[in-house]
Amino acid sequence: MLVLGIESSCDETGVALYDSEKGLIANQLHTQMAMHAEYGGVVPELASRDHIRRLVPLTHAALREAKVSYQQIDAIAYTQGPGLGGALLAGAAYTNALAFALNKPVLPVHHLEGHLLSPLLAKEQPEFPFVALLVSGGHTQFMAVRDFGDYELIGESVDDAAGEAFDKTGKLIGLPYPAGAILSQYAKLGHPDAFQFPRPMLHSHDLQMSFSGLKTAVLTAVEKTRATHHLSPQDTLPENIRNDICRCFQDAVVDVLVAKAKAALLQTGFRRLVVAGGVGANWKLREELSSLTVQTAPKRQPENIKTYFPPLDLCTDNGAMIAFAGAMRLVHGVQDAEKSGSFDVKPRWRLNEIVRDKMN
Ligand code: ATP
Ligand code: MG
Ligand code: FE
Repeated sequence: MLVLGIESSCDETGVALYDSEKGLIANQLHTQMAMHAEYGGVVPELASRDHIRRLVPLTHAALREAKVSYQQIDAIAYTQGPGLGGALLAGAAYTNALAFALNKPVLPVHHLEGHLLSPLLAKEQPEFPFVALLVSGGHTQFMAVRDFGDYELIGESVDDAAGEAFDKTGKLIGLPYPAGAILSQYAKLGHPDAFQFPRPMLHSHDLQMSFSGLKTAVLTAVEKTRATHHLSPQDTLPENIRNDICRCFQDAVVDVLVAKAKAALLQTGFRRLVVAGGVGANWKLREELSSLTVQTAPKRQPENIKTYFPPLDLCTDNGAMIAFAGAMRLVHGVQDAEKSGSFDVKPRWRLNEIVRDKMN
């Protein structure tokens, strides 16, 4: 079974081919990051237009990469939501037009289901059930995943997503958008004890998180530094202080995510953790979560947790995870392929709503 996957929910155009026997046989990606960097964030109108320009050439490139023809494709999966309305529409319209021309079924995929299943594209794959930590630019959520299609939301950020916090904090200290990756590189050079940033909701006794207050703490630190060094708002921060801020901010976010991940594992009783989404590329988070243990009672031996990550290049948005989620649906015989000729997008769409959608 060969599935073409189309991703266009935000600022990456992804086109990939997943073969249920051979695995991922093509993965083409174009990121609009440089285009949006000039504006300090994603400009929805520019994003939609760029997806339209890239979809056809990327599909050709994917077919060339896999050495297959249009006719060999069995179904086309696309990101139906959540995401930017216009960007989603570009992918949805393209997918449905192509499927209509080829007379193939269309598989609408939830973007977060794509992220959630992406660790299954790694060499070492998790078995069900597991706790999933979705930690991306738009979401920070814990899900109890019991089986393919059985996802229960058990906790999330009440305000900014962790990735959003990296991007906003990066902006405060003059880093280009999106700041997550570069901020974490500078963090490697910084001192972990230089600043004391808060760990919001660490002791809230639930799986809720909050990251918006952290950037205020960083802002205060930046303002103090400027005052002490007699710097104007236009001046760049001294490199060592910038690195220290990056380190202490990153560690604060990671501490909260790690503590909540432990709580999620204890609450569900699961002993496997799957991490997905762009912040899953963070070195410190990977380091901490790779050697995670949980203790069910004070005198009990700590239990080892097995943690799974997607391949690094599949942490952020891509077509591979969409093709894979579509293929899984075919493999599991879930009959909710859209009929060619009518389609919609769902810019706001909760992951736990997909089970209900499938039964309709
Ligand atoms: P969503 O999937 O929720 O709609 P998104 O698709 O925009 O959001 P992703 O592409 O999964 O999110 O991830 C992008 C985010 O990951 C950005 O906020 C970026 O700053 C962050 N990010 C990428 N690499 C790193 C890193 N090494 N450390 C921390 N954050 C990172
Ligand atoms: Mg992106
Ligand atoms: Fe994403």
